[in-house]
Amino acid sequence: MSSATNVFLKPGRDKSLLRRHPWVFSGAIDRIDATPAGGDSVCVRSHGGAFLGWGVYSPQSQIAVRLWSWEQAQPISVALLRTRLTQALALRRTCGDHEALRLVHAESDGLPGLIVDRYGDTLVLQASSAGAARWSEAAADVLLELTGCTRVYERSDADVMALEGIPVRSGPLRGDVPSARMHVKENGLSFGIDIAGGHKTGFYLDQRDNRALVRTLAAGRKVLDCFCYSGGFTVNALAGGAEHVTAVDASAEALTAARENVERNALDEQRAEWVEGDAFQYLRKLRDQGRSFGLIVLDPPKFAPTAAHAERAARGYKDINLLALKLLVPGGLLATFSCSGGVSRELFQKIVAGAASDAHVDAQILRWLSATPDHPVALAFPEGEYLKGLLCRVPG
Ligand code: SAH
Repeated sequence: MSSATNVFLKPGRDKSLLRRHPWVFSGAIDRIDATPAGGDSVCVRSHGGAFLGWGVYSPQSQIAVRLWSWEQAQPISVALLRTRLTQALALRRTCGDHEALRLVHAESDGLPGLIVDRYGDTLVLQASSAGAARWSEAAADVLLELTGCTRVYERSDADVMALEGIPVRSGPLRGDVPSARMHVKENGLSFGIDIAGGHKTGFYLDQRDNRALVRTLAAGRKVLDCFCYSGGFTVNALAGGAEHVTAVDASAEALTAARENVERNALDEQRAEWVEGDAFQYLRKLRDQGRSFGLIVLDPPKFAPTAAHAERAARGYKDINLLALKLLVPGGLLATFSCSGGVSRELFQKIVAGAASDAHVDAQILRWLSATPDHPVALAFPEGEYLKGLLCRVPG
């Protein structure tokens, strides 16, 4: 056996790893033959000592080890990082010519906890695991070399940092501070991106194709965009010829950004209405006012980060979907999403079906919606499929 620290699993707990699922929960560990620190590489072995893979240890996390490599001859190193990043970039070259693109999607690209988004010549990196934090500087250097980008900004400030026991880090990692007025084109439309202060890395890149879809569906319709953030769906609906868009968000800053994005694209502000408030309450208000819409988008924040929160999340999804279905005109469309890792696609469809049934509406599914292909899901890691959606239609 090598001189690396060995993590031995309990009997039978090697099954998921043999299928290349990259997580080892702390309860699966039998013993560790040294005292590694968070971020250190370890060799994961079956109870009997058979090699399973190389991973990174994270003592404070329930996910005690995340695996980076399944080959004994390929321990975690800059060379492995380079191989993984090169593979990740090769996929992105097939994802279309977009200014804003996710280059690295964590576990699904073989780099647990590492997310990298590209906005023009700026990379935004989020390291949300002990291993990603340990290797983020090296990743930044390799990425600059492979992409020709000029700067890397770190946004490692998600809630999960606390669970992993790693410090929050936000600021320039390589190069200068990106301009606060940066903007990128998405499918011909321009969007301001707040890299330092916006949600996630500044923009919801995963909805690119769904926003384009909404653009093709909006013509002549009254549109309701609930949870609009910086107006991704609103801008697309207006560009697609919507008669009117009502955009709702709890955040005044988000609405300001959305408004600026409408202006930036020279779209008719007169056709947009901005509502700052709680979408759950506002949907009820619309119902009480007898308003109706031809197209409704529901893209709420994550209600259930893990399966443990699924029940509460299900009530939230059912509530907004039931209200939305009742607000649709005959022939109206609902594009409804869940980005909760803890709610599976099957469960989400059941929840929407339950909402339709309680609303006494015979809705049909026209399409199953997903994140864009620059957010791949490793077959061995179904947890990677966090964004799921449905395009539904009520009879008209
Ligand atoms: N559709 C957007 C992304 C939505 S992100 C896009 O394509 O870019 C979720 C948004 O929901 C955030 O902007 C957040 O401010 C907002 N939000 C969270 N809770 C809310 C609530 N209860 N009511 C209304 N908006 C809410």
